[in-house]
Amino acid sequence: MPRQTPAHPSLTGAPADRKYLLERIGEAAVVQVYADGFGALTLREKTLVWHLYQAAIAGRDIFYDQRYAHNLEMRDVLEAVIAHARASEIDPDTLDAIVRYTKLFWVNTGPYNNLTARKFVLACTPEAFASAVRAAARAGARFPLRGGETLDAMLARLRPLFFDLAVDPTVTSKTPPAGQDILATSANNLYVGVTMKDLEGFTERHALNSRLVKRDGRLVEEVCRVGGRYDAPIRAIVGHLEAALPQATGPMADALRALIAFYHSGDDVDRQAYDIAWVTDKSSPVDTINGFVEVYLDARSIKGAWEALVFYVNHEKTEQIQTIAANAQWFEDRMPWDPKYRKDGIHATTANAIDIVVETGESGPITPVGINLPNDQSIRERYGSKSVSLSNVTEAYERSTLPEFRSEFSWTPEEAARATQWSAFASELTTNMHEVIGHGSGKVNETIAGNPPMWLKEQFSAIEESRADLVALYFLPDRRLVELGLVAAEDHATIVQTEYEGYTRNALVQLRRIREGTQIEEDHMRNRQMIVHWLMAHTDAIDVRVRDGKTYYVMTDAAAFRDGVGRLLAEVQRIKGEGDYEAARALVEAYGVHFDPARRDEVVARVDHLQLPSYTGFVMPRLEAATNASGEITDVTISYPQDLTAQMLEYSAATRHLRV
Ligand SMILES: [Zn+2]
Repeated sequence: MPRQTPAHPSLTGAPADRKYLLERIGEAAVVQVYADGFGALTLREKTLVWHLYQAAIAGRDIFYDQRYAHNLEMRDVLEAVIAHARASEIDPDTLDAIVRYTKLFWVNTGPYNNLTARKFVLACTPEAFASAVRAAARAGARFPLRGGETLDAMLARLRPLFFDLAVDPTVTSKTPPAGQDILATSANNLYVGVTMKDLEGFTERHALNSRLVKRDGRLVEEVCRVGGRYDAPIRAIVGHLEAALPQATGPMADALRALIAFYHSGDDVDRQAYDIAWVTDKSSPVDTINGFVEVYLDARSIKGAWEALVFYVNHEKTEQIQTIAANAQWFEDRMPWDPKYRKDGIHATTANAIDIVVETGESGPITPVGINLPNDQSIRERYGSKSVSLSNVTEAYERSTLPEFRSEFSWTPEEAARATQWSAFASELTTNMHEVIGHGSGKVNETIAGNPPMWLKEQFSAIEESRADLVALYFLPDRRLVELGLVAAEDHATIVQTEYEGYTRNALVQLRRIREGTQIEEDHMRNRQMIVHWLMAHTDAIDVRVRDGKTYYVMTDAAAFRDGVGRLLAEVQRIKGEGDYEAARALVEAYGVHFDPARRDEVVARVDHLQLPSYTGFVMPRLEAATNASGEITDVTISYPQDLTAQMLEYSAATRHLRV
């Protein structure tokens, strides 16, 4: 699973005059990510990346469709207007509103904010939008008309999708109003007409990679595979993966063949074979994640959202994460939880710092900064896991972060100065610990059959993310980090203080991301809110202070903080180990979901005053292949478009023929 937006990412040495922050769209920033190491790959590796890059783009629309059944049709309308804006006579204010909405639509993959899960709408009148669509049509734009439908009929049909906040208001609804169903109130396209009650006594055969539909009173699993749901894009992905095979290393080719077999059959036994082949390939310098992977989109935490990442190892930055991985057993033996949940004979987690070349589906344009897979608990226990930290994404975050971000929410200038000096380092270290010894750690009772998500349901992801964060926070002050050469003895206390302060501040600062409503939906945000508020309730480590009408969360006692983290971690591991749903729900509900809207309004006013973004969408590098007369690839070049619109239109054009 991924760790998202770092509070404070790291610094490296790219050219200082490079453009990272490309534009601001409301609360979103758009940032270019660079992959400097690509040029140093061999032609064979570059060619491999090229085929995997095409496979990544080929599957992009699967996630669009999973996220919302109307997404692709809405995107077609918006892109047709944008592509013909110059040639048509659209009122400038209307065009501004459409462009702004479309950019947010691209960044969030549809009309739902990725952090709040809530719908956003077009900020012009339906009449003005209709005029713009007609003007674009006169200039040659083509729209997705359904069999004989007029343009006006199409506009009337789509109007509630673009303009009505009450229609399909939430994409993933893990905490609906009392008495309402988590699936029925979620607008995503993973279920059609299904409620949790329908699932009682029903066993899914393709739980991860299917859409579940209630048809004539019966539940039907529409399996995502060749010949099944998403046939056309999956066939295209398979074609590119097959083209990649001859360029891959032996172990990677084995994994790709297993992935191809899974795309053909859709059967869980083939998914397991793929997970095992992927996780046991520990040495390939180029790698990909491609498929139905993370379960955050599903209110039940069962169905996988499609994503693809293509990346190569960043050798310079890999040393730290590998040191942590090599010592995983040492940490496991000292986990502050019931010894029966400690793994012995831990499989060394493969851990690399990587640079991504492209991310699509659920991983792009909004990307994680660290990933640990596979998610299948039984495979993790037997074969270990692979962790990656996305170095060039972290760098792009850092290079586009404004300094006011730290000073505004720090209680003292010293705290802000510590953050400026150390937070990038501390954050990268804790992200690596989160992925490698956090997600990689622990085991569960046999009674829950290696499958905690089935037991913890919609609470699983928040509990698992908390567990990983708590492991990192717990071991950060450990002397062992000095012995391993990960931190210098004289800086250690300051690094711990910086991270604890930053983690504490974040619980306040992250409220800026939830501009509407009074509860948190996103699991990583829930986990961070939960940990800080639990510590406030059970320790003396954190003070809430007010000065000049501004609220501050102040970490005052690092020893008390760590002690509390250890106690909470023991309980969180017990919950996972036993699959204790009621305890999970009580914990997340009490500390992770609800907040005071007045405090949020204060935070929003403070960040708006400083013009600080709430989240970031990334523009990916672009590849181009040169071929000789016989069609063989002779070179693959990388470039940086620095233009969200150009990239999104290019991706959409590349997959239009794959629509079902
Ligand atoms: Zn995580």
